[in-house]
Amino acid sequence: MALLQISEPGQAAAPHEGKHALGIDLGTTNSLVASVRSGSAETLPDAAGNMLLPSVVYYSAQGVPQVGNAALTLASEYPLDTLQSVKRFMGRSRNDVAGSEYQLGGGEEGQVRFLTSAGEITPVEASAAILNVLAERGRNTLGADIDGVVITVPAYFDDAQRQATKDAAQLAGLKVLRLLNEPTAAAVAYGLDSGDDGVVAVYDLGGGTFDVSILRLDRGVFEVLATGGDSALGGDDFDALIAAWAQQEYSLQEPEPAQARALLTAARAAKQALSDVEQVNFTVPGLPELTLTREVLEGLVQPLVKRTILASKRALRDAGVATTDIDSVVLVGGSTRVPLVRAAVSEFFGREPLADIDPDTVVAVGAALQADVLVGNKPDSDMLLLDVIPLSLGLETMGGLMERVIERNTTIPVAKAQEFTTYKDGQTAMSIHVLQGEREMVEGCRSLARFELRDIPPMAAGAARIRVTFQVDADGLLNVSAREETTGVETGITIKPSYGLEEDEIAEMLRASWEFAAEDMQSRQLAEQRLDARQLLENLQSALDQDGATLLETAEREALLAQMAALAAGQELDDIQTLKMATDSLARASESFAARRMDASIKQALTGLSVAQLDQLGEAD
Ligand code: ADP
Ligand code: MG
Repeated sequence: MALLQISEPGQAAAPHEGKHALGIDLGTTNSLVASVRSGSAETLPDAAGNMLLPSVVYYSAQGVPQVGNAALTLASEYPLDTLQSVKRFMGRSRNDVAGSEYQLGGGEEGQVRFLTSAGEITPVEASAAILNVLAERGRNTLGADIDGVVITVPAYFDDAQRQATKDAAQLAGLKVLRLLNEPTAAAVAYGLDSGDDGVVAVYDLGGGTFDVSILRLDRGVFEVLATGGDSALGGDDFDALIAAWAQQEYSLQEPEPAQARALLTAARAAKQALSDVEQVNFTVPGLPELTLTREVLEGLVQPLVKRTILASKRALRDAGVATTDIDSVVLVGGSTRVPLVRAAVSEFFGREPLADIDPDTVVAVGAALQADVLVGNKPDSDMLLLDVIPLSLGLETMGGLMERVIERNTTIPVAKAQEFTTYKDGQTAMSIHVLQGEREMVEGCRSLARFELRDIPPMAAGAARIRVTFQVDADGLLNVSAREETTGVETGITIKPSYGLEEDEIAEMLRASWEFAAEDMQSRQLAEQRLDARQLLENLQSALDQDGATLLETAEREALLAQMAALAAGQELDDIQTLKMATDSLARASESFAARRMDASIKQALTGLSVAQLDQLGEAD
């Protein structure tokens, strides 16, 4: 008989035959692909030798979208059909996007859609077009199909943004081994994961964004201690300042759109050249030549560089570490080539940053190293990369309270379950409201999703056992499921919130949670106390409706009703103590009624039974 063969866990089926994995940096401005070949990670060039693929996609009425430089050259002619920086729109709804240079479609809450000559295009589709080109480059270079990819995302990407990235990969027919945080990838590229424990700061200044991340390596595991930055600060802003400088030098009032673009192109070229030389010629077709020195450039961008340092300071504070605790600083992003940026970073952190690996390729290189491990080419490697969730996750309980199920800063992947119960007798459905945040009351938290668990068998309040499980996978995606334990009915949801969360919103939510901690505790206690009161009143009322007439004397009943009315009236009081005393005293006053009901129900349960059945009951004891 043929037996099924099972290989050792972690061991590739055929170890001599390496699998083909890619690391992909799906950037806002530029994207790259890298792969581990004969032991070292290399970025893969296109046929013309370019490593960077501009993250630009052009959609015409006919045919296949154009990606990269080809699309970039069409941007000025077809601004609405040439999608740039779509990463900003990933996992976002129209509600989240304040203004845009594009014509947007799609509902208020659903995924954003760009209205192009090729019809409505989603950011996921545009990203898939970019991934397609990179994957094809990989296939051509490696001469094989791709077994899996690691795609990098900013550390602060929320569930929706991560899910959108995965959707794009799926659309491009790629198997995502995992999404990896960009700063973690950069640290991996420098081999910091195999070093001693330590703290790493990753300073990433790209085209349109600045991200700073503080990572801690602990026994071979990376944790993100804090992230910070500015989602609207990058090399593009340097270009704009240089263009404005040129405009002033030329005494141009309002340049035509075409001229404005020409100024920006010249500005970018001059800026990049000035990273290597002290002075360049600034040339714009049809205008006299200017000279731009590094000194003038530095004067222009100094305030922006300062802002990145302030954001770095905040990230360190959030992480609870001092600059002296930092063991390595890693530079990422094309804009860290600017000498002033490097100088500011080394001055602030008090050490030379690591910059041996090209800052535009370092993320892709780290992703490739990780992909190689995950695809199974290095069965001995115990590299394990962990991230943490930035805000606590939980659900709404009675009284408008947030019950945290997974605390913030918990390392992912993680799964946690908690039991909940019904509030009312005979309740057959439960509404689950998933929240994110640190505040005690629902209003202070961010609503992620709602769903309902139905078909709970009718039981007395508090008797049902509903187990709610929160699971966050390695990519930061949250899955919530609820299961009624006696019947096994279960329902769940994968959270793909319709709107995103900016890093400064995260910071704001954290700040608010500290500021209002004491107040929140008050509100929580009050809400809980009110809930106790309400529940007692409701239970007592239904007991009175059923058995009040038979089990209580008129005087007893009236005394109870009077006390209930008093508690009901005082229910909205803000005084926790008074409310608690009134509730406790009503509970005591109703004790003998409860005891009588218990006796009565036991008697009733026994009367219908035969002697044989009673014997059986006895045996079962
Ligand atoms: P992103 O992460 O946003 O995709 P990149 O890391 O590719 O961006 O960085 C792109 C930015 O880097 C652009 O603003 C570009 O002008 C800038 N850049 C590239 N090379 C240099 C250079 N030599 N000097 C200064 N800036 C540079
Ligand atoms: Mg980048």
